[in-house]
Amino acid sequence: MSIALRAPEYIRRISPYIPGKPISELAREMALDEATIIKLASNENPLGVSPKAREAMAAVISDLARYPDGNGFALKQALSRKLGVGVDQFVLGNGSNDVLELAARAFLPAGGSAVYSQYSFAVYSLATQSVGARGIEVPARFFGHDLAAMADAVAPDTHIVFLANPNNPTGTFLPGKLLESFLENVPGNVMVLLDEAYNEYLPPELRYDSVAWIARFPNLVVSRTFSKIYGLAGLRIGYAVASPAVADLMNRVRAPFNANSVALAAAEAALNDDEFLQRSYVANRAGMAQIIKGLNALNLEHIPSAGNFVTFRVGDGAGVNLRLLQQGVIVRPIGSYGMPEWLRVTVGLEAENARFLEALAVALKG
Ligand SMILES: *Cc1c(COP(=O)(O)O)cnc(C)c1O
Repeated sequence: MSIALRAPEYIRRISPYIPGKPISELAREMALDEATIIKLASNENPLGVSPKAREAMAAVISDLARYPDGNGFALKQALSRKLGVGVDQFVLGNGSNDVLELAARAFLPAGGSAVYSQYSFAVYSLATQSVGARGIEVPARFFGHDLAAMADAVAPDTHIVFLANPNNPTGTFLPGKLLESFLENVPGNVMVLLDEAYNEYLPPELRYDSVAWIARFPNLVVSRTFSKIYGLAGLRIGYAVASPAVADLMNRVRAPFNANSVALAAAEAALNDDEFLQRSYVANRAGMAQIIKGLNALNLEHIPSAGNFVTFRVGDGAGVNLRLLQQGVIVRPIGSYGMPEWLRVTVGLEAENARFLEALAVALKG
């Protein structure tokens, strides 16, 4: 018997996560100059790394022979001050993907189930499958979460409901009021994991304070990341906020040094770099308007997005994507999400957005 067959069947059934194509890979494949390629595929911050984070990283380089602070004390202190909850309510992750997996490892037993929406983030089904649990995928409503149907889908063996707000890859948004009533409707012994990777991109009128709800709903876990507006995707750092008992259990299954020293220092500095955050927010609003205007001019339908990306319908997603790649423009095809007619583009700098729109016009001609 082959060694591969010794992996549990539920592991062998997992289809790998498909990331956005790296610039270096496209350069190799199409014999293009890396400098001419634009990547708008992974919802990264086009403004780069916050200057404060850059400084903080430089300052810790000389200490890299030492292990990181396994408890992430300084970053948790900074988060605690910013969010107004105790340091014992945080779980740090090697990216927020890690935090999603920790939630599954700690709370989702093999043979149990997790509920998530159709067209929601791929990591929910991956985390579910990797612990041998069953995913219950609830049909989407206008490409977003159907909260009533999701509450109904909770089974006696359901341990986690995954929600993304705003959602990726569709950009759809659920108002805070609806989330609150959802929490009231879900049994208190079912974890609700609210993934807010794009929270900082919300305009003031859409904001809501989910962290404050944890006191009332100890089954709520909020996850956030430094990969998106904070511009630190390559460092891999994210966190969950939970009730102390939940955070404690998630921390027990965490790898001891899952958040590295450079990431801890950078995240702490970026967290309070208000100038950079504001600049990133404003650039995203402007770039989003620019892209939507361009999509409208091309008569392409799009899904209104509350994130830093927008998903639009081209018909032949794979074909248009290939013709974009040939022009050195990387966006994200989302056929693996069951949306083969759509592409997702990340909001870039003004010049990148313009170049994307020009290349798209060419790509659509076939
Ligand atoms: C990008 C993203 C994340 C963040 O992933 P990291 O591991 O923190 O880089 C989490 N959830 C959603 C929905 C995302 O789109």
